[in-house]
Amino acid sequence: MNIIIFGPPGSGKGTQAELIEKEFNLRHISTGDLIRNEISKESKLGKEMKEIIAKGELVPSEIISRMLVEKLSTEKINNLFDGFPRTLMQAKFLDVVLNIDLVLNIEVSKELLEERITKRWYCSCGASYHEIYKKPKKKGFCDICGKKLFQREDDTKETLKNRLEIYESQLKPLRDYYKMKMIKINGEQEIEKVFSDIKFLLSNFEKLKNQIN
Ligand code: AMP
Repeated sequence: MNIIIFGPPGSGKGTQAELIEKEFNLRHISTGDLIRNEISKESKLGKEMKEIIAKGELVPSEIISRMLVEKLSTEKINNLFDGFPRTLMQAKFLDVVLNIDLVLNIEVSKELLEERITKRWYCSCGASYHEIYKKPKKKGFCDICGKKLFQREDDTKETLKNRLEIYESQLKPLRDYYKMKMIKINGEQEIEKVFSDIKFLLSNFEKLKNQIN
């Protein structure tokens, strides 16, 4: 089973991807993570990509495709794509390499995204918190390691507006491309409820396939 997950920044896509990966034994492939990993190596390619993503632009498709093929060629297993495809070209490329079974599209209103994103706090150990939904025990400090929490520079109302516009413009052609395979997920619910909806879909996948085709 090969799945794609779409969702705007703040939709909880990353959290759901982690849960799906564990429950359904899929390999989670996030192109954003692959890029950040290359950047952290401080390689020539990493430095080039750092500049591109800082501008909010897309990394050239041939670089992404190369990184992806490298990842896919390690083992033949089921995959969950996150952050890929972002263009029609990438979607067509993916169709040549393998068969996509299902496309999950997590939807959340702009207002709620704003509330979620601007109140997010992070710790350098990888933990994350929220002023309303997941408060740390001691305000401003990590429950796990005690370090001071920080906010991401791009987690502001203004940047979110821009990120959402980019996200929508990238998703529009893909929505058409995948219309027979795309299923809307209500991302405004509690994390557990969103996951139980996804779990229902994935575990009834075969039955569902007959319905949508
Ligand atoms: P993400 O973590 O998915 O939000 O990705 C972070 C950044 O990496 C994006 O804003 C793009 O600059 C770049 N990126 C991630 N995936 C792709 C992709 N499939 N094609 C081109 N650029 C990408």
